[in-house]
Amino acid sequence: MSDILTSEQIAMIGFEAPYVRPDDADAAIQRLVETSLALHAQLAVLAQEKEATCTWTGDDDGLWTTECGHAYSFVWDGPEDNGQKFCGYCGKRLIQVAYVEPVEPNEDTGATP
Ligand SMILES: [Zn+2]
Repeated sequence: MSDILTSEQIAMIGFEAPYVRPDDADAAIQRLVETSLALHAQLAVLAQEKEATCTWTGDDDGLWTTECGHAYSFVWDGPEDNGQKFCGYCGKRLIQVAYVEPVEPNEDTGATP
């Protein structure tokens, strides 16, 4: 059995159940158990994919470097300001880390503003 069930296989679960003869019950139960395990595995993968993120880090030139190894530049502002919620390269949920201008210490006192 493959790891991913097709929609046809899932539909067959409901279709097959009322037509199982008593002699075939053990085999039908075994198929249902295998199908249930495959569905649980599939749901676990989907839950994991839903939580996956890709961090986009901005630099002082407005270029955004993605965690998955790409670079992108917007005409104005960054991903969040442009309504981007998912990485266009890997499809994961996008996390924005904007560039922060470094604070220069005062030349005379060494204090930061
Ligand atoms: Zn990505």
